[in-house]
Amino acid sequence: MFDLAASSHCAAAPGQVTFVGAGPGDPDHLTLKALRALQQADVVIHDRLVGAGVLALANPAAVLVDVGKTGFGPATAQKDINALIVAEARRGRRVVRLKGGDCGIFGRLDEEIEALDRAGLGWSIVPGLTAAVAAAAVIGQSLTRRGRNASVRIVTGHDMAGFAEQDWRGMARRGEVAAIYMGKKSARFLQGRLMMHGAAADTPITIVENASRADERTVATSLADLPKALGDIAGPAVLLYGLAPRRAAATLSRLKEARS
Ligand code: SAH
Repeated sequence: MFDLAASSHCAAAPGQVTFVGAGPGDPDHLTLKALRALQQADVVIHDRLVGAGVLALANPAAVLVDVGKTGFGPATAQKDINALIVAEARRGRRVVRLKGGDCGIFGRLDEEIEALDRAGLGWSIVPGLTAAVAAAAVIGQSLTRRGRNASVRIVTGHDMAGFAEQDWRGMARRGEVAAIYMGKKSARFLQGRLMMHGAAADTPITIVENASRADERTVATSLADLPKALGDIAGPAVLLYGLAPRRAAATLSRLKEARS
């Protein structure tokens, strides 16, 4: 059996910050490195997306700080988080900066690293399972497929400037696949841009809400119906553009065969 404690690679050191990807929610998706860093932490500074099940695995003596709560205004939040991380590391604590999914995907990792570099403090990164990867597994699909798509896009619906512009023409091509994060508010914008650039109205899109959590839900829809399908999605959701759930696809083709 793998002995966590005896493993020689130390994930957390006093006065250093370990950026840890917590995965999409299910604590079983944590890596062993992530678990070890959590067990060794003096302070865990985490986002709103990190669930109780993951936090329960942290060192019981660790201080947990939720920096995802509203109250931090959007303009000041990142600055305050940077300052907090730096202050805790300067006090000689083992700091875990815990982010949902992977730290390097829409996680503002660079801003925090730059703050630590400016302060002359050490850091390391423990990668985590990003939401798109978990969502694809939920619907039984692969993100790339021979003969269909040789690349996959990781896209955000909006960025700091508003709705995010993308390579719409490329995305609109048949067979393309994109994992769209934070795409709920921008659904109409995405739909308009893609259709304007020639995407078929019946391009499949699967919405995976709360991937890997107890309240996980999948909605299979199309580009034409996307805004409607998102109507009652309240939790974090990834839109898998270009992918239909494998089982539904199989069921559909059986139905078509039966009809013909
Ligand atoms: N670093 C994270 C992404 C942070 S941005 C990662 O790698 O997964 C926040 C967005 O991630 C959400 O708006 C949603 O689009 C997506 N997301 C995060 N967790 C999710 C989950 N469990 N299920 C579905 N989407 C999720």
